[in-house]
Amino acid sequence: MTLKGKTAIVTGSTSGIGLGIARALAECGANVMLNGFGDKEEIETLSAKRAAELGVKVAYSDADISDPAAVREMVAAAIKAFGAVDILVNNAGIQHTAAVDEFPEAKWDAIIAINLSSNFHLIKAVLPGMRSRNWGRIVNISSVHGLVASAHKAAYVAAKHGVIGLTKVVALETATTGITCNAICPGWVLTPLVQKQIDDRAKQEGIPVEQAKLELLVEKQPSHEFATPEQIGGLCVFLCSDAAAQITGASLPIDGGWVAE
Ligand code: NAD
Repeated sequence: MTLKGKTAIVTGSTSGIGLGIARALAECGANVMLNGFGDKEEIETLSAKRAAELGVKVAYSDADISDPAAVREMVAAAIKAFGAVDILVNNAGIQHTAAVDEFPEAKWDAIIAINLSSNFHLIKAVLPGMRSRNWGRIVNISSVHGLVASAHKAAYVAAKHGVIGLTKVVALETATTGITCNAICPGWVLTPLVQKQIDDRAKQEGIPVEQAKLELLVEKQPSHEFATPEQIGGLCVFLCSDAAAQITGASLPIDGGWVAE
């Protein structure tokens, strides 16, 4: 599969799933704009080395995607660096767990801004260019929590369900063009976002971290195995391919059977 000459923005690609997606796209030849938080110098050095090995261009933006102006600047920077944005992967996300009646307002606002509203602002900023070239791929990283709920995740579940609704609307509005818009719905993937939930569980229940990890998997994911950033990267590459040109508006679980139950 080749994405040579295509250009991608992957939000939240300094860690976890986004990093796996950025690597998979670059391995197929795409130029990639990385985004997310971290040590700027370290990110730029590592990504320049990998880009040289793969023969692609890599740029980095530390834009805070909860800020619509910063989102627009990042898109402008990607267009300046690469000439276009052909592929957008809305991946960055955060989590906070608490019962609804105790959920902090500021956490609600941050999760809605980062996990949902940023997808709208990014899609709005890249769509005109995609329409002018009559080709584009938008992949929104929702979650199994875009399809079903879990207790103590009100903001996250609301945002991820919202992402699936937004995905369907964008798919309909671009249906007669060469643009597709789909959502990927991962189950548990062992990244820093999930490690925190495992650590919290171990602390609350007074059990070893390894036991908390197993309990978390067994409770929700019938395969009893984590999905990996590489597997999600592989699905994302497929959605960017010509073979997936008629897949649009879909929400694809990659969850070891979580939503089959
Ligand atoms: P992670 O914590 O490993 O990475 C999150 C990334 O988002 C980091 O690069 C971070 O710097 C970036 N980020 C956070 N806030 C940002 C902001 N305001 N602006 C720009 N970048 C920001 O998390 P992950 O597990 O890789 O999650 C990635 C996506 O996958 C999220 O949308 C998450 O909801 C979703 N997801 C994760 C899982 C899982 O099990 N890990 C399951 C389903 C869905």
